[in-house]
Formats: sequence, C-alpha cells, structure tokens
Amino acid sequence: MKIKSFTFNPFQENTYIIYNSKKECLIIDPGCYTNEEEKKLYDFVKKNKLNPIKIINTHCHIDHILGNQFVSKTWKIDLYIHINEIEQLNNSENIAKIYGLDEYKPSPKPTHFIRENQKIQLGSYNFKILFTPGHSPGHICLYNEVDNFIISGDVIFKNSIGRTDLPGGDYNTLINSITEKILPINESLKIYAGHGPSTILKDEKETNPFLK
Ligand SMILES: [Zn+2]
Ligand SMILES: [Zn+2]
Repeated sequence: MKIKSFTFNPFQENTYIIYNSKKECLIIDPGCYTNEEEKKLYDFVKKNKLNPIKIINTHCHIDHILGNQFVSKTWKIDLYIHINEIEQLNNSENIAKIYGLDEYKPSPKPTHFIRENQKIQLGSYNFKILFTPGHSPGHICLYNEVDNFIISGDVIFKNSIGRTDLPGGDYNTLINSITEKILPINESLKIYAGHGPSTILKDEKETNPFLK
C-alpha cells in the first residue's frame, strides 16, 4: 500500500491518497481549495492511473473538506463521515464565510455514516475505524494493522495534539481518545497527521508534551 500526501489550503492541511497495487484509492480529507491545488491532486491521480473509490473525512472542519465537492464530482464517489460531524458539515458554508474562504464549493452530503470498529476496505486491505472525539465530536482515525500506520486527522500531531477550543471540542475527551485508542497500539506505529510531518508513536510517547 502506498500513501501520497499533499499540503493544501491556508490552513496547511494534509490530504492523503492511499492506494494499492490494483490502483484503487481512498482520498482522505481532500483540502484542495485553489484551482492549482485541485490540479495537483487531479494530476497525481491521472498520472498514476488511480481509481478513487471513496472520500473519507476524519472530521468536518473546513480545512479538511474544502475539496470534497471537487473530488466527488470529478470521480463520482461517495462521502463517508461519522454521524456526529453532520452538524459541522451542514454549517460549513457559514464557517467558510467566517474564514473568508469565498471560493468554497459546498461539500456534498455524506451517503454513508462510519461507525466505530467498522472496517473500510481497500482491495484486500482493511482499515479499522477508531472513534476519537475531543478535537471534534465525530472525529475518526483510520488504522491499518498490516502496514502499521494510522491516519490521525487532528487528534495527534508531531509534538502536539489537536485544539479543543472549537465548537464540540473537549480537552479531556481528546486526551481519553488518545490514551484509550492510540497509545495502546504498538510503538512503531507510523502516524500520518492532519497537519505537519508524520511521526512514530514511540517518539510521541517520549517527547510529546501533551502525553506526559
Ligand atoms: Zn480540525
Ligand atoms: Zn485541521
């Protein structure tokens, strides 16, 4: 399995494309906003002859959904989110205005709600859905056991964790999510975060000031 990341939009959000040898791919948190960013994503898919099969949002903060409409229209694929994110998704046009993102193309509605412990398939690969609220009320992470990595959205970053001062955020809930769902996974786990560089769980256990 291969992972390609892009850093998009004024929030420097990481968009991930995960693909297998059959060229099927998941597009996670498409944050492309400008035409140039859309083209970067499009060109990568085209050049690698990938076949996108699903859009998944780890959560529905505006920086993670700016490209939902572009991706869903371009490849005619469905959006998957946790049901607790629906309010934020429904409110996204207002939020975009508040941040001055006047070019925001409204996200399509989800066709599927993802549940905790559900498995998302990518060919013969499985992603286990971890329910990790705290940064936002319906945040999920995608964990792949075979290749030992997690797409962590805005739950945990290199040397930091997600902010909890936005609507629906709660610090203790976030710390619980990290402690119960992520820390027990093995230490060599690779973490692909929603912002900033990727990291290894062992390093975060040793140096992340929020996990002491
Ligand atoms: Zn967020
Ligand atoms: Zn974010």
